[in-house]
Order: sequence, then structure tokens, then C-alpha cells
Amino acid sequence: MILRVRFHGRGGQGAKTASRILGNAAFNDGYNAQDFPIYGAERRGAPVTAFTRFSESEITERGFIFSPDVVAVMDDSLTADPTASPFAGLRKGGLAIVNTAKPAAEVNGGRTDIAVLTLDLTRRALDTLGKAVLSSGIAAAVARASGITSEAFMRGLVEELKEVGLSDDAISKNVALATAIYDVVSPIKLHTEELPARADLVPLAVVVSGEGTEDVVNTGNSASRHTGNWRITKPVIDYLKCTDCMICYAYCPESAMSAGPDGRIAIDYDNCKGCMICQTECPLRAIGSQMEGLQ
Ligand code: SF4
Ligand code: SF4
Repeated sequence: MILRVRFHGRGGQGAKTASRILGNAAFNDGYNAQDFPIYGAERRGAPVTAFTRFSESEITERGFIFSPDVVAVMDDSLTADPTASPFAGLRKGGLAIVNTAKPAAEVNGGRTDIAVLTLDLTRRALDTLGKAVLSSGIAAAVARASGITSEAFMRGLVEELKEVGLSDDAISKNVALATAIYDVVSPIKLHTEELPARADLVPLAVVVSGEGTEDVVNTGNSASRHTGNWRITKPVIDYLKCTDCMICYAYCPESAMSAGPDGRIAIDYDNCKGCMICQTECPLRAIGSQMEGLQ
């Protein structure tokens, strides 16, 4: 049997690294393994997808995983984002692991035919690493749920983190975080079915205009694509320091700043993607930052 895992995260959370840690751990545990990401917008906060397959026998399957046995959702806002659709194609009887502080019933994508495991990985990562990087935690949860041994997982984790250039201190913290998460998850017996028909998959809303190309059908529609749900970090203006010089307005790549009704600079949080360029450019340091979802 091949176990197919699909990771859904946001740029900066570590979805690609998580898929690599899991693939490396599975390989260390004696499986054949594949792992790879989709390179999409490649911007912080943008939806990112990565994949891992592992099997005791040779894997001849290639390409994206449309019908996973396990989905790992690293940001619960993705469950309501049609451009991510993390539950699309998840097999009946499969498992969704969702990083959230909410109860499972609120983040199951309306699916009652799957198991949902919720863990507040962001809080654990902030407490242990000091930042919301989730690759080690989510990989640990998937590895444990799918029965990869602790020894193989920790070896794969350390190898992968060394490869991406983390310091010994950062690796130790990641190992501590991963160990804590590995210890609270139990192996889960999956009851997934054979591949569903491709017709069951969510169709993409694009018009093909010629060989290999896609058209954005309407012009001037960027404001209706709300990039606010990409945000991990939220800029907050301190109006006691701000002089309304509009420098941040000039630098914002999403045109998410404008003069509010009172004439003062204001942020359109529906379209602010949290790149924090405004904070860097403000000459008066009048823009602070907040982790999204935290007060
Ligand atoms: S750059 Fe700073 S001071 Fe100028 S308008 Fe923006 S927040 Fe205010
Ligand atoms: S520059 Fe500031 S307001 Fe504009 S998208 Fe980035 S974080 Fe948001």
C-alpha cells in the first residue's frame, strides 16, 4: 500500500520542509519515499502545497496527489479557502490533521466520512521556537499517526534541518517540539478506499485559451481576490507616531493602504497580505506587528 500525504500551508510555515522531513523519515524507516512541493506564488502567506508518498514496495506513481489518505492542514483558514481546498479528494476513511485551537467539527470542511485530529501547533511552536514555523510539528504528527518509528523520524528531522542550514540550538528546539507532538499523537488505522474517479475532483475555474496557457477572464479584478487570508503577521498603525506621510502607501504592493474616512492612513485588512514592507519603510517606526489570530 502507498500512503499518500498532502500538506497545505502558507508560505513561511514550512509545508515543503515538512514534506521533506516526512519523506526522509519514511526512507530511514525502510520505506520507498517521494516528496515534492508545488511552487506557486512563492510569497509569504500564499497557499502552498507539498506532497509525500511512501510505500513498502516500489512507487511507480508520479505527479501531484489528488486523492490523499492524509491531509495535513497547517493553517485552519485554508479550510475555507477555495484556492487551497485542502479536503478535495481526501479519501473516505482518511485522516485530516489540522493545526487549530478550534474543535474538529468547525474545521472538517463539512466532511463526516473522515477522521479529524486537531492540534494547536502554532501555540506550541511559539512557546518552543519563538516563531510560528510548523514544519517539525506537523511532520511529527503525520509521522506518528502513520506509524513511522520515533528513531527514524528524529533522524530524518535532524538530517533535514541540518540540510536547510539550521543552527544546533535551533535543531535542538525543533527536536523538543517534535518529540512533544509525537508523544501526544496515536497511530491511526486508515480505512481509505481505492482512487475515486477524476470527475469527483474539484474543477479549476480557468479558461484555456491555447496550448498550455490559461487566461484570467476579467481585467481589474485583483481587489476581489482577497489576499488578507494569506496574512500570518498583521501590521498595526500607531496613530500617535504616524504623521500621514503616505510613504507606506507608496510601497504597499497590494494597494492595501489608503486614506480612511477621517483622512488618516488606514489598512484594508481584506487585501493586506502581511508582507510587512510598510513596517520596514515607515521612517517613524509607526507600524507594529501582531501575530494573526493573537491579541
Ligand atoms: S509611513 Fe509611517 S508615518 Fe508615514 S503614513 Fe505610513 S505609518 Fe504613517
Ligand atoms: S505593505 Fe503593509 S499593508 Fe501592504 S500588504 Fe504588506 S503588510 Fe499589508
